[in-house]
Amino acid sequence: MLAKKGLAVSPSPTLAIDSKAKELKSRGVDVISFGAGEPDFDTPAHIREAAIAAINQGHTRYTPASGTPELKEAICRKLQRENGLHYSPAEIVVSNGGKHSLSNAFAALLNPGDEVLIPVPYWVSYPELVKLNDGIPVEVVTEEKQGFKVTIPDLKKAWSPRTKALVLNSPSNPTGQVYTREELEMIGYFCYEHEMYIIADEIYERLVYDGLACTSIAGLGDYTKKLTVLVNGVSKSYAMTGWRIGYTASAPEIAGVMGAIQSHATSNPNSIAQKAALAALDGPQEGMAEMLQAFDERRNYMVERIVGLPFLKALKPQGAFYVFVNIEGALGKAFGGREITDSDDFAARLLEEEKVAVVPGTGFGSPGYIRLSFATSMENIVKGLDRLEAFLAELRG
Ligand code: PMP
Ligand code: GLU
Repeated sequence: MLAKKGLAVSPSPTLAIDSKAKELKSRGVDVISFGAGEPDFDTPAHIREAAIAAINQGHTRYTPASGTPELKEAICRKLQRENGLHYSPAEIVVSNGGKHSLSNAFAALLNPGDEVLIPVPYWVSYPELVKLNDGIPVEVVTEEKQGFKVTIPDLKKAWSPRTKALVLNSPSNPTGQVYTREELEMIGYFCYEHEMYIIADEIYERLVYDGLACTSIAGLGDYTKKLTVLVNGVSKSYAMTGWRIGYTASAPEIAGVMGAIQSHATSNPNSIAQKAALAALDGPQEGMAEMLQAFDERRNYMVERIVGLPFLKALKPQGAFYVFVNIEGALGKAFGGREITDSDDFAARLLEEEKVAVVPGTGFGSPGYIRLSFATSMENIVKGLDRLEAFLAELRG
């Protein structure tokens, strides 16, 4: 018999939808995919050039397992400059993407049976990563009318003496909502009082709209900084999803354990990608503003269209590049005489009938929803939403 832990893990539904849409496209099917969890822009030229130079200059050997000192220093500069956070290189661990950073964090913090509070809707990988690291994911259901944000009464209800940590993702995948400083202060104080760690996933931190700025919970004071494992990376902010560079900033003892784990599991993250990440963090940031501007236009268009469609409701995302759409009004209706039973069914039928790929809410713990990514061209968005509209117009009952 294979490992029970491994067998209990389901493959990432976001990655599965994305590869299914890509596969259909490669077979010539005219699919519009709203599944993408990655910017559709190319990595900026100066970053690509830094990687080419790294190869030609022979940066092709092992680096220290937890990342090069120069990249750690650049990360510290970034955290100081953009987030007002003071960290030293010994508190940074560079990993193979933010996902690997999260995995390291759970591996370093959890003992068997430790509970981790995960606000719902959550990004698909949190519960699976907790389980893989012997913890117990505890879902904390949030309300759409509260902007899908976890409140202190929610946390009080979910807390138990076995609670070890809270996962906080702001801006959130899949809802795009961003916690305010005041909300974070209340949550931070709750975690401090209850001696809980905070895994703060800030991977979408640069992708916020309407002039909003993200507050990092680690920056509220020493009381939160000590408890926080801040997770970030270059995947989303610099259109570098394939390069696989993420990082953590945490208390040095946590960083030490994560670094030791990583030294056996993977050794260093790719030496060339580390040079590229260095160029991303230290280089010009203007290209990113253009990307953000394009996302903002698509966001406005997508939300306006969706809220005008029958059966659908959606909050306007404040960050990231997803719209989380409430489809409860469409469930129980029939398409072509056959009832749409749940969001998995809705997504499957939309793909089958109209060739539009969306991610069902089930993987995010919210079965009455679908997630649409606007990290695709405006042309695709217009076409895909026209098809969604045509699909909804056929619903009866
Ligand atoms: N956290 C969230 C919320 C995400 O959506 C992603 C996207 N994959 C990640 C972490 C991990 O990003 P990556 O491993 O590509 O750096
Ligand atoms: N985070 C992205 C998403 O939610 C990429 C896919 C993944 O890593 O699961 O679609």
